[in-house]
Amino acid sequence: MRWIAGLVIIIVGAAAGYYWYSLPPTYPGKYIVTADRVLTMDPDLPQVQAVLVDNNEIMAVGDVRELEGLADVEIIRLKGTLIPGLIEPHTHPIAAALLGSATDISAFKYDNRMQIMQALQDSADEFSVTPWVLAYGWDPIAIRDLSPPTLAELDAISPDKPMLVLTQMMHEAYANTAALKEAGVDPRRGPMLRELEEINRVVSAIPAPSDEAVELLVRKTYTDYAKAGYTTIGVTGAVGRHPNPVGLLQRVGLEDNPPVRTYVYLTEDQLPNWRFGGDDRFTILGAKFWLDGSPFTGGAATHEPYEDSELVLERLGLSTGHRGDLSMSDTDLLEKLRDVHKRSGQVAMHAQGERAIDQALMAIATIQAEDPRDDIEHRLEHNALITNEQIQRAADLGVSLGFFVDHISHYGDQLESLFGKERLDRYMPVRDAKDAGAVITFHGDHPATPMNPMGTVETAMSRTSTSGNTVVGADQAVTLEEALQAMTVNAARQLGQEDTLGMIAVGMKADFTLLNGNPQVMMPQGLRLIRPAMTIRNGQPVDTRFVSWFDPELAIKAIWKMMMGDDSEPTST
Ligand SMILES: [Zn+2]
Repeated sequence: MRWIAGLVIIIVGAAAGYYWYSLPPTYPGKYIVTADRVLTMDPDLPQVQAVLVDNNEIMAVGDVRELEGLADVEIIRLKGTLIPGLIEPHTHPIAAALLGSATDISAFKYDNRMQIMQALQDSADEFSVTPWVLAYGWDPIAIRDLSPPTLAELDAISPDKPMLVLTQMMHEAYANTAALKEAGVDPRRGPMLRELEEINRVVSAIPAPSDEAVELLVRKTYTDYAKAGYTTIGVTGAVGRHPNPVGLLQRVGLEDNPPVRTYVYLTEDQLPNWRFGGDDRFTILGAKFWLDGSPFTGGAATHEPYEDSELVLERLGLSTGHRGDLSMSDTDLLEKLRDVHKRSGQVAMHAQGERAIDQALMAIATIQAEDPRDDIEHRLEHNALITNEQIQRAADLGVSLGFFVDHISHYGDQLESLFGKERLDRYMPVRDAKDAGAVITFHGDHPATPMNPMGTVETAMSRTSTSGNTVVGADQAVTLEEALQAMTVNAARQLGQEDTLGMIAVGMKADFTLLNGNPQVMMPQGLRLIRPAMTIRNGQPVDTRFVSWFDPELAIKAIWKMMMGDDSEPTST
């Protein structure tokens, strides 16, 4: 019952927080806003002094004096750099919300095995709101001495409570004896769960958090996006443990004044149940398909085999000649793509290796030839090993390319052991894609990385691993301007919203991100230390206080269900 005490502490603390937080500012309906610098991302007028906002729209840009001549309104003077509201085109809010309640043991937080085993011990010892010990971010690629945990080690950390440890890219997991038993798996096979089915079998033995608890966590995650500087998110696959993930996002996204705008791509099983479309708060754009897996588990479907390195053969346990698998056949993909295309939907395809990218481009070319639609631009996700020939083909087909550049900060030191020198130099080839005229964007794929858009900008410019030891394809670096474009104007284009989002220009929605420094003077090292001080959506500062997302009725129901079991409802009074 320690968790009940824990909950009480959380709720009392939260109530106190209510009084401690000050009210967020509200701006008048019509105002002029100026900052130390205003970067517009509009190629015709890259920098202005001020912006005239009328309700949710930008009416004019220019000098303060000029705008004062147009309207006699209050002038709001901000410290820092004002840019268009940042857009995250590829993220997973429900998964991020659920993982947010587990223990983070990632390489973003720890450097060695001893620290990680201690963090696991601490999380097993402390009270928790879930009956299992859950940890994520086990990362033997980023942490050199991280040998797999033995069953005895895990059982010593948590003898009675079931414990599950997920790897960073979530393609593998380790479970203790109690967890294996709950899932009906024989503990004599050891703690490691390799295939998705094995992991799912154990994950599905975890008592589900109530729908109300998940909804509360998602509401909080929405304000986390705004705190990180985002005003719009693209949900590339509404995945996460909830009976109706799309309905949940719709409910949170359709609040009167949600922290971010939501654009959703459905998974295959969700496709039959939802219509495409929506409004400027919540819209379903199309579908997400997964064509291959992660480079860091051997999942990327490459042309040439992975390297014969100690990392590949020993630590990842792959065999010589391994090239990864495609997850569907060419005809299967064609059929599925045709179906969404016919419904005027856009498809986002996860493709890391050259074989997956070939498959995607071939299918898109076929469908566009059958049924040419210049209003639908399908998109490719991650693109780790895309070749110049494929880039050109994508640009010609009007396919936008989303790059996961934080692979470089996070895994840069290990990439050569996975793919060798030649492929290291063309890993995440952003410069080549930009020069070929493709629409390029960057994403964080949360919860795969922490929300830190300026960190992504730094990596795209420096191409350097976090340790500072490895530069990955220095020729592929972009400028600050190009990096910010990738996360604003290009991301708006990728989501099909370029007419209203992504630029500070007349007629655009009044969405802004205020940065607390001057990114133009950084080297780029240090850019990641610049923080978003505020986001403004539809002309108003976004409220990210606890009270903005905390819903007492949901909380009471969530607690009630935890105490009484899932089927009961508190009687309404
Ligand atoms: Zn993703």
